[in-house]
Amino acid sequence: MQNSSNSADTEVNNELNQYESLISTSKIMLVDDEPINTEVLQTYLESEGYHNFVTTSESIHAIELMRREKPDVILLDLMMPDVSGFDIMNAMKREQALQHIPVVILTSSDDAETKLQALQLGAMDFLAKPVDASELALRLRNTLAAKAYQHQLVNYDQLTGLAKFETFLRSTTEATMSFKEAGSMCAVLCVNMENLKKINMTLGREHGNRILQAFAHTLDSCVRSAGNLGAVYGTRLNTNLARTSGDKFTIFIGPLDNPQQAAVLARRIIIESSESHRVDGQSVYTSARVGIAVYPDDAADSQTLISNAETAMLHARSQDSKESYAFYSQEMNCASGRLLAIENGLRDSIKKQELRVTYQPKVDIVTGEIIGAEALMRWMPPSLGFVGPDEFIPVAEQIGLIVPMGEWILRQACSQAASWREEFGFDFKLAVNVSIKQIHNSDMTATVQRALAESGLPAHCLTLELTENMVMENAESNIDLLHKLKDQGISLSIDDFGTGYSSLSYLQKFPLDELKIDKSFIEVLETQESEAPVVKAMVSLAHDLGMRVVAEGIETDIQLHHVRQLSCELYQGYLCSKPLIADAFSELLKNGAASKAA
Ligand code: C2E
Ligand code: MG
Ligand code: MG
Repeated sequence: MQNSSNSADTEVNNELNQYESLISTSKIMLVDDEPINTEVLQTYLESEGYHNFVTTSESIHAIELMRREKPDVILLDLMMPDVSGFDIMNAMKREQALQHIPVVILTSSDDAETKLQALQLGAMDFLAKPVDASELALRLRNTLAAKAYQHQLVNYDQLTGLAKFETFLRSTTEATMSFKEAGSMCAVLCVNMENLKKINMTLGREHGNRILQAFAHTLDSCVRSAGNLGAVYGTRLNTNLARTSGDKFTIFIGPLDNPQQAAVLARRIIIESSESHRVDGQSVYTSARVGIAVYPDDAADSQTLISNAETAMLHARSQDSKESYAFYSQEMNCASGRLLAIENGLRDSIKKQELRVTYQPKVDIVTGEIIGAEALMRWMPPSLGFVGPDEFIPVAEQIGLIVPMGEWILRQACSQAASWREEFGFDFKLAVNVSIKQIHNSDMTATVQRALAESGLPAHCLTLELTENMVMENAESNIDLLHKLKDQGISLSIDDFGTGYSSLSYLQKFPLDELKIDKSFIEVLETQESEAPVVKAMVSLAHDLGMRVVAEGIETDIQLHHVRQLSCELYQGYLCSKPLIADAFSELLKNGAASKAA
């Protein structure tokens, strides 16, 4: 009981505080052709605590005065000579900056028609002349409160209470312009809250929202203390924080003596926001990545400054960055420009027939015979030149194009393999790389069936290769999907083995036929004898689980010798051949057949 009355008291106090602050900060404009009226109104309002007034009895100057003074509310007389209250409201409607200022009409008229007309023009309220002091105070307070609420809705994010992007952009533009005149330095930081999508997916949106609010609160206190710290050292630091979109925030800070001050704030944010939250018995972890762009070094205007801070943040998030924050650099811009060009180029790559398939032989280590090939995708758009699959496949995965591209290569390669099988008279084994995104986002079983049926390639001749990292992420949910694929009679291979984190218990649960040892292990075999036991253990693990082993990236006879000693069954690598286009691969097969016949 005690508690609930306390909280009711707190609410009442909060409301009173809000009204008090509205009264003390609001600017009231009074427009009446009779100066005595504005004087009386001002005296009434002063006794209520208002102290910020703009008054005029010359209605002809009212609009000009509004533009200059930007009042929070206007008390407007309707009946004035030359320019009436209606004229003023009409003019206000035409100006973006004035049309949202609330107007309270002062009228002695009881005429319903007049009131209706004023309402149509957007008047918020009426006050009958002669004005009653307490009615005036209440109506004005309510009008200001409604305006403040509307302002809050338009400019502030309801979930976190932080400014919205448009508000941030306006204030940052003003600040950078004034810093330009003063020749000062400032910075924008773009902060990404990591893991929000994952949290929403695993714990639900409601918990996600609460964790997001806590994250925003932490950011707010970091930004405030950065501002206070500036004040301690004698520079009044201007700071601004906004929620830009779902998990992104932007911060403005300035004036700075040097860019490192922005890095200090970034580090503080990273440390303070690295938190573990316990929700319904589960632990979730939040962290931040930050990008920094500095004015005037990195941009000449606020929009570019904000967008460069975002580019820097994306760099800090990229897999090749070990740092949690990054300063913007020109190179990043080139990199993000290239990424955009790749993204746009890929969208038309199939239609424009820019994709090619190359084939790298898979060789029997004991007999030296080519038993088949791995199909590898190539893309050479005229505008960008050659782009490697390591660069374009992740982009295709991100934008969902991997599904049509993956289907394209599967169909091409199956029909090519079927024709080699026929021409050379052996069970040509084809391997095609598949992204886990294809399996999650499309009916891969139907796609495989279609490719096999169209080409006439028997299922046992096809192997799908999936990288270790992909399979192990969400391992549990992948088990069923892989079993379904395998049920069609095809083989499954785990690619680049050893580069990711493998759970051995899961390895056992996946229906795998083949394990490919990544070429980084093969390279060191030659120079570091000490690494041999690791590779040996991988091979025997694979054999114990009933898989055949392929050694990737064999370039020298010594490497081949090593993997033969370790009892790998197959190898691929430049020692036999680089990936070749279909015609060149046919030649290789013909030569192989000829040398066997000789
Ligand atoms: P991967 O599947 O492990 O393919 C082997 C990569 O090693 C190929 O690079 C191949 O050209 C290269 N390689 C083969 N032998 C040697 C060697 O002796 N020395 C060296 N240094 N490299 C060798 P590539 O073609 O650049 O492909 C890179 C990766 O891109 C592939 O790795 C695969 O994960 C992915 N990829 C390629 N094509 C496709 C595709 O059609 N779909 C999907 N999802 N991924 C693909
Ligand atoms: Mg592969
Ligand atoms: Mg590989």
